[in-house]
Amino acid sequence: MNSRKDHTQNITFTNTEIAFRNKDDGELKHSLWLFKLMRSPLLVNLFSKLTLTAIKIRLPITSAVKATIYKQFCSGESIEESQQVVKRLSKSGVSSILDYSVEGKETVEDFDNTKKEVLRIIHIAKGNPAIPYTSLKITGVASIILLEKLSSKVQLSKSEDSAWAVAKNRINDICYNAFINNVPIYFDAEESWIQDTIDSMAEEMMLLYNKEKAIILTTLQMYRWDRIEYLNRLISKARNDKFFVGIKLVRGAYMEKENKRAFEFDYKSPIQPNKESTDRDFDKAVDICLSNIDLVKLCAGTHNEASSVHLVYKMKELGIPNNHPNVYFSQLYGMSDHITFNLADQGYNVTKYLPYGPVRSTLPYLIRRAEENTAIAGQMSRELKLILEELKRRKHRD
Ligand SMILES: Cc1cc2nc3c(=O)[nH]c(=O)nc-3n(C[C@H](O)[C@H](O)[C@H](O)COP(=O)(O)OP(=O)(O)OC[C@H]3O[C@@H](n4cnc5c(N)ncnc54)[C@H](O)[C@@H]3O)c2cc1C
Repeated sequence: MNSRKDHTQNITFTNTEIAFRNKDDGELKHSLWLFKLMRSPLLVNLFSKLTLTAIKIRLPITSAVKATIYKQFCSGESIEESQQVVKRLSKSGVSSILDYSVEGKETVEDFDNTKKEVLRIIHIAKGNPAIPYTSLKITGVASIILLEKLSSKVQLSKSEDSAWAVAKNRINDICYNAFINNVPIYFDAEESWIQDTIDSMAEEMMLLYNKEKAIILTTLQMYRWDRIEYLNRLISKARNDKFFVGIKLVRGAYMEKENKRAFEFDYKSPIQPNKESTDRDFDKAVDICLSNIDLVKLCAGTHNEASSVHLVYKMKELGIPNNHPNVYFSQLYGMSDHITFNLADQGYNVTKYLPYGPVRSTLPYLIRRAEENTAIAGQMSRELKLILEELKRRKHRD
């Protein structure tokens, strides 16, 4: 019998039995230990500094990292290694987005390797409901220096012009493969000073490949005060030029970097004045996407419970079924299982972003995750509270 509930019932994220049912006691205790360590800003700071130095002087730290923080937030060093996690999630009704997490690469060889890897993901995802779409960081396949020059409308030299033509070909090849294999692909959003070029590329590719459905999808960071206007503009353009739109909504991962740069170079920060404005615009963007559901494929990439509840309620209000093919929820692997698994239990489309790659290459990502989970003014993180609750529940059950 199908245990999933229909969409008239209310959503709750408090059921820790559902949240952690695919983790055994040993795994749960490992997570508990790790989230306890990450409570300390001092330890997290030390981890960031030490790992980066250890890499520079080539200290053998990979096995220690792999057995601890990597295990929590990454699915494996290769696509093959990640398949175990994909299968396990799929059993609980959660699908996976394989995310080749290699950052800060700058050579043509690196860009070509990343392209090859993304093509491998597309081929593995083809016709596989456990991997419904994939993602692309444009800085993985194009130089950040070029992207910045293009965004600030600086004239490119002849050699830069040809490097950009090669990068555009790389991006187009990836999108073409996504198109012919019917595997939607999300362009991640990155720093504001390169985002205009990423947005233009995404729009160009949508115009080419989204004539029948949304294959090329873009990301909007709602911590930027200009994104609602951009969203409305993109939707009108899509209606006028007759293409479908794919949108992943996130709050945004580079807030401190953005504010610091704006302060240093003395321009108005692209970041909202406060958290409430970010939250308000995230929910507003959800409403706009849902009221254009005939055209827009939406993915809410968030760990925020209120925003997830808002999306659930808005879907109910508009009569959109839980498993509508144009609505996805998504959380990062290792985070907010209570949202992921409770939504999946109610029949919503939910994905986990599974970063994978060689341990050393994933360190910048792991440091961001550790910093995100650090205690604010001594508060226990939501993750930690839930794990403790579940361990307690299991103890009383036994
Ligand atoms: C599936 C998925 C895909 C992702 N893809 C991307 C991506 O492509 N690009 C990207 O940048 N990030 C991406 N992220 C990361 C995402 O931006 C962070 O996980 C997110 O910011 C954390 O916010 P939250 O929605 O979980 O909610 P919360 O934890 O409620 O919000 C925290 C966020 O609110 C914002 N915020 C906090 N304080 C303030 C303030 N004072 N003023 C204004 N805003 C504030 C910041 O963005 C902060 O990160 C992705 C996340 C997921 C789950």
